[in-house]
Amino acid sequence: MALIVQKYGGTSVGSTDRIRNVAKRVARWKAQGHDIVVVPSAMSGETNRLIALAKEISPQPDPRELDVVASTGEQVTIGLLSMALQEEGLKAKSYTGPQVRVLTDSTFTKARILSIDDERLRRDLQAGYVVVVAGFQGADEAGNITTLGRGGSDTSAVALAAALKADECQIYTDVDGVYTTDPRVEPEARKLNSITFEEMLEMASLGSKVLQIRSVEFAGKYKVKLRVLSSFQDEGEGTLITVEEKNPMEQPIISGIAFNRDEAKVTILGVPDRPGIACQILEAVAEANIDVDIIIQNISHDGTTDFSFTVARVELPKTLRILDTVKGQINAREVLSDNKICKVSAVGVGMRSHPGVASRMFRALAEEGINIQMISTSEIKISVIIDEKYLELAVRVLHKAFGLSESAER
Ligand code: ADP
Ligand code: ASP
Ligand code: MG
Repeated sequence: MALIVQKYGGTSVGSTDRIRNVAKRVARWKAQGHDIVVVPSAMSGETNRLIALAKEISPQPDPRELDVVASTGEQVTIGLLSMALQEEGLKAKSYTGPQVRVLTDSTFTKARILSIDDERLRRDLQAGYVVVVAGFQGADEAGNITTLGRGGSDTSAVALAAALKADECQIYTDVDGVYTTDPRVEPEARKLNSITFEEMLEMASLGSKVLQIRSVEFAGKYKVKLRVLSSFQDEGEGTLITVEEKNPMEQPIISGIAFNRDEAKVTILGVPDRPGIACQILEAVAEANIDVDIIIQNISHDGTTDFSFTVARVELPKTLRILDTVKGQINAREVLSDNKICKVSAVGVGMRSHPGVASRMFRALAEEGINIQMISTSEIKISVIIDEKYLELAVRVLHKAFGLSESAER
């Protein structure tokens, strides 16, 4: 008998029929004698609908009030799922995040979980209940409702699994595991039987939204056994996120290709080339709480240089307003921007022991005439910024260049 936390994504609870199917699946696990905590997301499209409603009233909604609205989607699904479980003849009880004291900081719309009071949950489990806890939400010290950022139910589930010391946290979604790349873009993508935490963290932070980044961080930190599975299939082991790396002989060089369409590039031309200028530019951006991703400074000519960096696309207007002021202060010539770019990345721990990955990647892109605008590397990833119109082509070309289509299931 095990204690299992199961998270079901929006598509998996997208209709009453699907909610009934989830209840049936939970009932099968329960019948095997396991204790089950279920964490549903809102019905698919619901969180987007709620945020759009808020923006109809207020184009830039007060973040506290936005969280009050956005968190309601999950309150609907916990109630409906509990009813469906009861219809299956099970004892079931639902709780919102604040009810089970999912304590977070006060960063509305992207709050971090600090602790969870597991006492009530344990009591219910002991009394034979399936406990249904709303994903995506918590409350801060003062009792304000908070949400955990888009895709945050994954993190709710992992945090609950950590608090309850569950045997496994299962993330049920609309694909049957983590693939070598998004199967919607590359139909030849292959499911991985396992992937290391380190690689999954890179994949998630480089744009693979199959798991929220924080859920992977949390699972790594608290040693939660984390598995991604399909809610539409009865068979299959899904993908296990593991600590161990494979033996180097079996280790593929590249495990996956990630991409992100949500970036924009800014370039400041004619920046005086002297100490302190890069800092002056980036400090102004950081003060506005805007994260900067890839940074490039060109070589200097005539005492000036060009300075480029990328930010999240939604932050571009704010960044340009800031740079307009900074431009005058540092006496730069011009600020240019491009929001039709994307980032494509190759990820793999095998890169550490294999030279030549970058040249292979750049050659594959060059052969398709895809121009690389920016490059960034770390120990286990190489990212390039390219024109957004080449995204699908680049993903497929790299998937092929690194032999990911042919590789057997790992
Ligand atoms: P849920 O609503 O269940 O949380 P998400 O839409 O957040 O589902 O995540 C699942 C989706 O992630 C898949 O439908 C798939 O298109 C996308 N995805 C992106 N990269 C990958 C990948 N490497 N492997 C599997 N799915 C991926
Ligand atoms: N419902 C939230 C969202 O759409 C949380 C989640 O689905 O994980 O972002
Ligand atoms: Mg998700």
